[in-house]
Amino acid sequence: MSDIHTVGVVGAGVMGTGLAQALAQTGHRVLLVDRTPEILAAAERTVRQGLRFAGLLGDRGPREDQRTVLGRITSSTDYEGFDDADFVIENVTEDWDLKKGVYRRLDAICPERTVFAANTSVIPITRIGAATSRPAHVLGMHFMNPVPLKPTVEVIRGHHTSAATLDAARTLLAQLGKEGILVEDSPGFVSNRVLMLTVNEAVYLVHEGVAAAEEVDRIFRTCFGHTMGPLETADLIGLDTILQSVEGLYAAFSDSKYRPCPLLVRMVDAGLLGRKSGQGFYSYATALR
Ligand code: NAD
Repeated sequence: MSDIHTVGVVGAGVMGTGLAQALAQTGHRVLLVDRTPEILAAAERTVRQGLRFAGLLGDRGPREDQRTVLGRITSSTDYEGFDDADFVIENVTEDWDLKKGVYRRLDAICPERTVFAANTSVIPITRIGAATSRPAHVLGMHFMNPVPLKPTVEVIRGHHTSAATLDAARTLLAQLGKEGILVEDSPGFVSNRVLMLTVNEAVYLVHEGVAAAEEVDRIFRTCFGHTMGPLETADLIGLDTILQSVEGLYAAFSDSKYRPCPLLVRMVDAGLLGRKSGQGFYSYATALR
């Protein structure tokens, strides 16, 4: 496929803002959508912060003026410009009814050629494809967080995903300087089928008083050489997203091994969502958004 220029990003939360930054930094025109102007303004602040951070790290690629990069992002609540989108990456809250509504709307607005990539944690891509009139143009692209810094993406082939669609995803990933690992469709794919179970079990250990969060994480870091422990990872992902994902796996497999830990449910009810709210298993000086 030839170059992909205009990319719609739906959902401007943790993943949507990271994607908007990574796409704009690599020269793409980004159409960013969320529910309210306030969320979009917060997203712009997050991207600005991300660009400053990238500057400090001496990020790869040509140095560009922050204003030039930000100027490539157009924010709207009503899908402005999506009738010209080459590619759309959907990153709304992990809730099937909500996502279904978004895909129906995208399907009505976007040209037939537009590819839809679902950045979902556990929802099957085949089900998402079936909510559109273009299942061959739908695939899963499970980006890792933080998007600008992670080189690899789990790419998921839905039942009807075409070879041309996978090709378009490869082109976009190459333009982003990332690599894809292709897997077949299954709830949670490879990464989250394992990760969500691990995180949920780690929360159980804290819930049962077997170890504090710090000890659980330290064992994974120092004994296994992981960069982060499972509870630090949970805070980074967002405990609401973890809970929705575990519930999604539980519903998909009807297997009690995915039953959500009561402590996880209580923390989400209490608004302790991890980094994005300033408090999860750990405290963060300021919420990121
Ligand atoms: P988030 O809660 O930070 O952001 C979700 C955004 O979706 C919010 O800003 C919300 O306002 C917006 N939204 C909700 N309904 C909408 C609608 N109808 N139209 C437009 N926007 C709407 O969540 P997140 O962590 O960015 O996760 C987004 C998706 O990416 C989820 O499906 C999640 O499972 C997946 N994901 C998350 C991670 C992670 O590490 N957080 C990693 C990979 C994939």
